[in-house]
Amino acid sequence: MLALLTTPGEAGSAGAGEAPEPRAGGDEVLLRPLEVGVCGTDREIADGHFGAAPEGEERLVLGHELVAEVAADGHGFARGELVAATVRRSCERCAACAAGAPDACLTGAYRERGITRLHGFASELVAERPEHLVRVPPALGRLGVLAEPGSVCARAIRHARAIGGRQPWSEERALVLGTGAIGVLAALFLRLDGFEVWAAARSAGGEKAALLEATGARYVSTDASPLPALAHESGGFDVVVEATGDAQVMLDTLALLRRNGVACLLGLDGEARDVSIDGRVLGVDTVVGNRALAGSVNAHRVDWDAAVAHLDRARRRWPEVVEALVGLRVPVDRFAEAFAFRGVKATLTFG
Ligand code: BGC
Repeated sequence: MLALLTTPGEAGSAGAGEAPEPRAGGDEVLLRPLEVGVCGTDREIADGHFGAAPEGEERLVLGHELVAEVAADGHGFARGELVAATVRRSCERCAACAAGAPDACLTGAYRERGITRLHGFASELVAERPEHLVRVPPALGRLGVLAEPGSVCARAIRHARAIGGRQPWSEERALVLGTGAIGVLAALFLRLDGFEVWAAARSAGGEKAALLEATGARYVSTDASPLPALAHESGGFDVVVEATGDAQVMLDTLALLRRNGVACLLGLDGEARDVSIDGRVLGVDTVVGNRALAGSVNAHRVDWDAAVAHLDRARRRWPEVVEALVGLRVPVDRFAEAFAFRGVKATLTFG
């Protein structure tokens, strides 16, 4: 069957090619992928910086953002039903994984489909255990491909609110940094939760700004209005969701929080370098302002359910916006176009 394969660690090795068809074991459901989303992690793997093939193999099937059709009745799923699938699998030796929370794995020995030691979903057929499948409402359709990035956002917001909720605080004003799929989806979800949302990115305006503004969020270009000015202009934020993947910006979020505010970091920046902060922001403001900075990765089952529900609500509230989030759909042999796409989300089509 046709798949998108790469040799982890080898830049430029990604390509469409033949992979063995999976056989659905008795405890698995056979799926026909419709669309598989492309994200920064896929680009990192394709560039040779990240990822691992399954044990004993050289090639890795990419893809961890899936919407698929169930190929045959079974395990409570009906043929033709739309599903997404979670990414991370238990390390089988820690309490978090045993409790069904591999997103909080304590050993780091987890596996992730399409990323670490498990083949991904970018292929014509996929087999998956039913407990890892997430039902996608028919009305959401192929936009269910956004459930995975949505689940990452839902986790970040859930964690930020849990951390903020450790003491009385206000849940009024949020800032999203970065306007890739994670930034845009986080902004939509925060709007649905009733936050006043500001979204900031380097570029001035454009389609992403228009999409965000259609949801009532306020778009700011950091070229025109640098982050410190933003903190001043807004009065500070209760929640900051960072999705730029720049460690300096990550550290700068501390200065953007108002009293009892929480910043949640989602981007990754693996560059070895020093980043800096005005000592008073850390040494005084963060302490006397009860501010918190937390990282978040992956998603719990509850976040997947929240993401699907939020996407469906967002679709009803802002149909044109949600439809426009997937800006490019190409067959797998044109994967390079999807990898080069700079809109919100590009997907590879299989069905
Ligand atoms: C995925 C997560 C995954 C993380 C680290 C992200 O792109 O969305 O599910 O845990 O990469 O591998």
